[in-house]
Order: sequence, then structure tokens, then C-alpha cells
Amino acid sequence: ASASNYVGRFAPSPTGPLHFGSLVAALASYLDAKSCAGRWLVRVEDIDPPREIPGARDAILNALVAHGLDWDGEILLQSQRTAHYKAALAELSAQRHTYACSCSRQRLRSLPNGYDGQCLSQPPTSRTPAAIKLKSRSFSYQFEDLIQGRQSQLLQAPQDDFVLWRKDGLVAYQLAVVVDDLAQGVNHVVRGSDLLDSAVRQALLLRLMGAEPPAYGHLPVASKQDGQKLSKQNHAAALDNSAAAANLVRALQFLGQAPPEHLLQGSVQAILRWGCEHWHRGKVPASLAIAVD
Ligand code: GLU
Repeated sequence: ASASNYVGRFAPSPTGPLHFGSLVAALASYLDAKSCAGRWLVRVEDIDPPREIPGARDAILNALVAHGLDWDGEILLQSQRTAHYKAALAELSAQRHTYACSCSRQRLRSLPNGYDGQCLSQPPTSRTPAAIKLKSRSFSYQFEDLIQGRQSQLLQAPQDDFVLWRKDGLVAYQLAVVVDDLAQGVNHVVRGSDLLDSAVRQALLLRLMGAEPPAYGHLPVASKQDGQKLSKQNHAAALDNSAAAANLVRALQFLGQAPPEHLLQGSVQAILRWGCEHWHRGKVPASLAIAVD
């Protein structure tokens, strides 16, 4: 029975199997939702075919199941939501919040102070391939991050104007995320702190769409001893599903929850139950990256 209106989510990109860093994000978002009697959704962010690895989606979902992380409702696949992203883009464009930018990556990289707004004053012709960017104006966003505490983030126009629709015809991450968080009624976003800088961008987009931003909680990111983030792109090891209990206990430790030793002998369900009963956001270390081996 859930009297709560908490809706959280885990939103993996199928660019590789579930690794320890993504298990941490899945587990923390799950425990935060479940300890508030909330719903926990899973959304597959398959909007970038060039970066996708065949079979990664199923591998991620199988790993969630093996770790007892059962989601509520249907899985949302971003690859099937293009019409919704287009509609949101059209709406933002109709309100004159967007512009086309044909600048090459090379030009953008060569600008010492970030984007200079060239395409605002000299719009590309409609036949030139162009990205669609948000005219970000200057926007500052203060919020209380559930893990990182007080945050104050600032976007400055035009250097921080960001892409909504890519030049190669694909929707950009920032737009897809807010359209779906809004459609799914997500009001709590718990994810890795590699996405901390996205909060201000997503909050701005949501405001422009007439919605309130969710509560954000940004977790420490598991990094390799050399400081590199554990990521699917740098081939972080896939989790061994047959060691699910040990993986969960290790993830609880990483999250500062001090799981007792005896949990290792229990089922994944027993570990998740313990995690839920003892979940304490304040114990999660705020440091942005923690080395694991
Ligand atoms: N799909 C993103 C990732 O795998 C996460 C997006 C989010 O949680 O907002 O890094």
C-alpha cells in the first residue's frame, strides 16, 4: 500500500552491461524511492544508436532482476518516444526559445570563452545541417540536493546554450530526459554526480515547459584508482549476477550505509529489505568520486 506520491527512476543508456557504478545508481534510486513508499521506474535511454552495444539493454534488465531490483509499471524505451520529443521541440520553438546552430565541432572547440552566439546573429540557411539549441538566456538555479546539499548553478547566454536536437538528426539527452521525466510524473531524480551540471539545464527546460523541476540527489561516482570514472565506455567490468548478494552489500558500503556482515549470507530480497529499512541519505558520502578497485 503506498500513500506516497514519490516517483523515482533509473535511466540507463544501453551502451554496455550493468557495472558497479550503475548498480550504485540503480540501488540508491531504488532504496530512496522504496523507503518513501514510492514508485521506482526504469527507462531505457536508447536514443543514441551509434553508441549502443547490441544486447546491452537485455543484459542491464537481466542484471536488475538478478539483483532483486524489480521496477514498477512498464519499462519506457526512449527509442519509441521520438514523436513526443519532436512535439516538445516544436512547442519550445513556437515560443521562440530555440535557434539553429550550424557551427562545426571544430569551431566550437576553438572558442576560448565558449560559444559566441554567431548563429544567433547570422542564422544558417534552412538547407545547412544544423543543431537546434536552447536560447538559455541567463538562468540561475538554486536547489537543495538530497545528497550534495545546497547548490547554486548558473547558465550564461550564449556560452552555455545547449543542444536540444543534434545536427545528425537525433534528439539530445537533455530534451529527452525532461520530456520523459515529465510524462512519467518523476518527482525525484537520484543519479550519479557526473550529471550534477545537468540539473540547471533540465530545471530550465522544465520551467519553460510550465513544470516544476523534481528533487535532485547526486551520488558519488565510482572511479578507478587512477581517477577515471567507471563507465560502460571504458569497459568497466560487467557485474557477475551469480554474486548478486555480494555486489549489493558492496554497493551499500559504497553508499555509506554500513551493512552488517551477516547480510552476505542472505537473499537479495533480505539485503534490499535491510537497505530499505536503514536507508539514510545523510550517510551517503557527498564526495563526487570515490576510487574502488
Ligand atoms: N542515461 C543516463 C546515463 O546512463 C542517465 C540519465 C539520468 O539519470 O538523468 O548516464
